[in-house]
Formats: sequence, C-alpha cells, structure tokens
Amino acid sequence: MKAKVISLKTEYQVTTEQAEKLLRLQREILEQVALGVDYRTILNALCYAAEQLVSDSLASIMIYDESHSFLTVLAAPSIPSEAIEALNGLIPSENAGSCGTAVHSNEPQYVTDTRTDCRWCDLQGFVENFSIGACWSCPIKIEKDTAMGSFALSSFEKRTPSAFYKQLLETSAHIIGIILKREQEEQSLWQLAHRDVLTGLENRSSFNKTLARALDFAYTQNTQLAVLVLDLDGFKDVNDTQGHDVGDKVLQWVAEQVQQVLGETDSFARLGGDEFVILIEELVKPFVVDQLIEEILMLFKQKIKVASHQFSLSTSIGVSFFPDDGQTAEKLLRNADTAMYAAKKSGRNCAKIYHEDLTNLVEHRVNLVAEMRAALVNQDFIVHYQPQFCTKSQKLLGVEALVRWQHFDKGLISPQTFISIAEQSGLIKEIGLWVFITACQQCKKWWDEGVADFSLAINLSVKQLDSESIQQMQEVLMGMNFPLHNLELEVTESLVMHSESLHELKKLEAMGIRISMDDFGTGYSSLAQLKHLPISKLKIDRSFIKDLTENESDRILIKTIIALGHSLGLKIVAEGVETIEQQDFLAAQGCDLIQGYLRSRPVPPEQLAELFVHL
Ligand code: C2E
Ligand code: CA
Ligand code: CA
Repeated sequence: MKAKVISLKTEYQVTTEQAEKLLRLQREILEQVALGVDYRTILNALCYAAEQLVSDSLASIMIYDESHSFLTVLAAPSIPSEAIEALNGLIPSENAGSCGTAVHSNEPQYVTDTRTDCRWCDLQGFVENFSIGACWSCPIKIEKDTAMGSFALSSFEKRTPSAFYKQLLETSAHIIGIILKREQEEQSLWQLAHRDVLTGLENRSSFNKTLARALDFAYTQNTQLAVLVLDLDGFKDVNDTQGHDVGDKVLQWVAEQVQQVLGETDSFARLGGDEFVILIEELVKPFVVDQLIEEILMLFKQKIKVASHQFSLSTSIGVSFFPDDGQTAEKLLRNADTAMYAAKKSGRNCAKIYHEDLTNLVEHRVNLVAEMRAALVNQDFIVHYQPQFCTKSQKLLGVEALVRWQHFDKGLISPQTFISIAEQSGLIKEIGLWVFITACQQCKKWWDEGVADFSLAINLSVKQLDSESIQQMQEVLMGMNFPLHNLELEVTESLVMHSESLHELKKLEAMGIRISMDDFGTGYSSLAQLKHLPISKLKIDRSFIKDLTENESDRILIKTIIALGHSLGLKIVAEGVETIEQQDFLAAQGCDLIQGYLRSRPVPPEQLAELFVHL
C-alpha cells in the first residue's frame, strides 16, 4: 500500500520488500532536503544509499553544463578521482557511453556490456583503464523534456539490471531532479537578494555582510583592510543627455572594466546609482591600494563606447583603512565617502585617502547648511549692489545684485564661502529666490520713486533653472508688475550646456528677459557656440582683466572676445576692473560696460541710492 504513496512506475514488477527499500531511500533523502542539508552532501548520501542497494556498484551523478555543453561529475563518492577527471567534459551524443547517451536521448540507457555495446565504442580507453563492465544510466530531468544530467550505476562485471534496479535508478534520478531544481531556485533567490541586477555585482546589503565578515576576520587575525568608494563624475549628465539605456550600459561597462583589474579575493559591489565600492582584505602593503587606484584611473582614460555613442567619463575615489580610519563597517564606509567627496571637490578624476581633517570639513559643511536655513528664516541675508558703468558716457547703466550673509557671530560672510555649499545642499533655490524677490522689489521701488531706468542683473545658479523655480520667478515679476526689459539674469557657461537649463532659458528670453553669460572664458563654450544661445551680454571673467597690463595673451584674448562678441550682436561687460590702465585698455577696445572696484565696490542699497543723486 505504501508503494502507491511513492507513485512508483508500475511497469516494473518489484516486490513489496523492494518497494519499501525504495520508499525508505526516498524518505531519508527528502528528509535531509527538508532539514536544509547542503545539496552536495545529500547527493553523496544518495550515491552511497544506491550502492548499498546494488552490490558491487559505483554510483555517479553527472550534470550538464549548458553553457559549455558538456557533462561534469557532480557527485561520485566511491569513484577514484582519475576516473572522474576522465569523465569530466563528456559531450552528450548517441554514442557517448551510457551517461552521455542518456542525456542526449533523454531516455535511460542500460548497457550490460561496455566492451561490445556501440554506445561505448568511443570510450574503450576508459573501459580499459577503469575496468568498467556494465553501466546503467538514467537522465535527470528538471523540465519534462530536457535532461540536465544523469544518474548512473556502474560495475566491473557485465550485468543486466533487474526491474528493481531500473526502478531504483529512475527513482533516484527523479529525486536528484527535485534536489537540483530546489538548489537552482535557491540560487536564483540568492542572486535576487544579493546581486545587483544591472551589473551582476554584489549589492549594498550583501556588501555590508561581506564587510562585517571581513572585519571580524581582520580583528582576530590582526590584519589591515581597505575600503574604496568610487563615484562616477558627471554620470548624471550621461543619463540626462543620452538616456537611461546608455546610462545603464555605462554602469555595466564600469563594472566589467574595474572587475578586471581587481584581485580574486577583492570584493566589488554597486552601492546604488553610480556608486561602487571595493574591499581589499588582508592588506599587507598599502601600495597595493595605490597601484589599484592608478589602474582604475587609467581605465577611465579610454573612451567608453556604448552602442553608437562614445564619450569620456572619470571617477572620484575615496579610501579608508581598517583599523586606522575606523573600526566598524559604518565608519569605514562613511570615511571613504568623505574622502571621495574631497576628491570630487579637488577637481574629480582622482583619489583621496581619508584623514581626520576631512571630517572636520564635513562637519563644518553640515553646520553651515543648518545655519543657512536659520539665516533664511531670520532674514540674515542681505543684497549689495555693484554698479556697471558705460565705458563711453560714464553713466550708471546697470547694477548687479550680490548676496551677502550677515552672520550673527562671524560678521559679513562672502558668497564665495557659502554659495557652492548652498548649491550642493539644494538650499540655493530658496536663497536664490529670496535674492531675486529682494532685488526686484528694491529696484522697482527706486524706479517708482522716479529714479531713471537701469538694468538689474541677478545671478542664477544652475539649480534654479528648472521649471518650478522659473515659474516662481515669473509669478514674482507679474505680481509686482516688474518692467521685464530692465531685468538681466547672469548664468555661467556650464549651466548653458545643460539641455534642460537651455530650454528654461529660452522661456525666459521669450518673456523679454535678457540673459548674460557670466565669467566668460573660464568654461568650455566657444564663441562659435554662443550664436545658438539665447544671450545678449558677455561678462569677461575677472581673471583676464586682472593681469591684462602685464599679460600680452590676455590682452589678445580680450580683444578677440570683444570683436567677436560684437559681431554676434552681444554687449560686452568687463568685471573686476581695478585700475585706470585696465579701464583705458578696455575703453580702447570698445568694451561697452565696466564693473569693478575702480568705480565702485558692491554696496548696500542706501549707499547705491547716493549714486543716483549724481545721475
Ligand atoms: P560674480 O557673479 O562673478 O560676481 C562678481 C564678483 O566679483 C563679486 O564677488 C564682486 O564683489 C567681485 N568684484 C567686483 N569687482 C571687483 C574688483 O574690482 N576686484 C575684485 N577682486 N573683485 C571684484 P562676490 O560678491 O564675493 O560674489 C562672488 C560670487 O558669488 C559671484 O561672482 C557669484 O558667482 C556668486 N553670487 C553672488 N551673489 C549671488 C546670488 O545671489 N546667487 C548666486 N547664484 N550666486 C551669487
Ligand atoms: Ca555675476
Ligand atoms: Ca562674474
């Protein structure tokens, strides 16, 4: 009656006693599966159990490696290793011995005499070397129609299998199929839980475990380890301009390339986005890390080719060491991250090793952001105005609004100290909007009081060129009925290169607002590109003005900018004019406007109002 439970095939006539033996074997093996015993151990146990039931036999399990299309021995605890070696690599065909033929035909192959059976004719060397007499093999199936391996019993004697033996073979192959399928599923579940789907690297949660284990080991063995955090430079641009598909391919490229320069024992994971991490264990010589960094930076010197695109990308790397820079996984990662940010700050495409000063820097930065938030609420920001004068008529034609921070403790803080941090933290949007409102209100008030028109220039950060910020600005302007032709927005070259920003800039231009290109000459845009941009003014960067009296090439450059700018119909402003010589040279070249300490520093509104008296 129990035979029914195990659903034995009825074509074999086995005795109740034999059926019970099979049932016991099946139960014992499945029990181990349920207990979570490692599958290799279970497969070995199954081989032993089968050998017990068939005297003088040797059991073997082969698995079909689909990617290589050959068979390898997965378990054969009683077979000598030389024989296993000889069997590995067997390619399934209609005469590839019992196992190769069973997998090929997906049918059991009961070879009773290996010396005469044509299925073994190509393997006579093996037959001689290992004195195989008979070999019965049954395919292991995971899906119904495909064999993924074989289970075989061999003997030194010629031998015909009894119905019971055939039943044993088929039952065993069936159980092995279940075990392997389970294993496969667990593997893919494991993969899902531990692998990054895009790159196939370890994911963050898995890496955390790897690092924790590595730290345990390093503690007990007193060894060093290094954590390297890699963050791609400008990856967001790739994603924004080339699309996410290309972005994904770039990440895969990075994963592949970096993997190639890593040692076998190094761990490599993708933490998310464009951030990767490398763990080097048992670090004996720190220069290994230097070498690795060198190799990684070299990798990025090649052009990345993805689909039909080709571009350059670089990476910034931060490194921390155990035990010097941290004893816990969290601290090591945080410090490597801090070092990576320092690398970004110092111009990207480089590596920085963590040191304590960096943490102080970060703390300073965090405090500053919190203080800036408070300053917005407390109205501690103020706007100064620096006039721009016409080179010919000497008249005040415009002002540039420049923000300052009236700090309760540190006094007046220059925007150079806080603008970039405000940009990184996103707070620039709020600060920028506040400056925008304040400056517009102030100038509108002057004009309403009868002061002659002049233009108001306001600096915009790249972060403010999104549709939300633009809309807020539009509302402010409409709300106060601001004369749009008096407004000028100063943007930098890098900003104009962004396609989204360009789109927003064009909207502003369409409203009648003028755009001027700030710090011209320091970025990447060429005069030729300016033609396609919605700008009406160029501000020659201060650095060119500074040395013009001594520096011939600066003079030539300034001349060229002015001439070409004019040919494009642009007005030219020189900023940072501090001396009469500079002013005279610029006037001689036909520069339209002059801004600088020579004529006036940026001043508070009350002080600027005094200048109007002389208009
Ligand atoms: P910028 O837009 O290039 O502004 C001109 C800077 O040059 C100002 O520095 C001004 O004080 C300084 N300057 C003017 N004439 C001279 C001169 O003759 N000699 C020298 N050595 N310097 C001169 P400031 O006010 O410290 O502003 C620095 C930068 O901060 C600005 O450079 C601008 O990029 C940014 N910034 C200022 N206010 C804002 C703002 O409201 N929003 C944004 N996004 N950025 C701002
Ligand atoms: Ca400016
Ligand atoms: Ca400037």
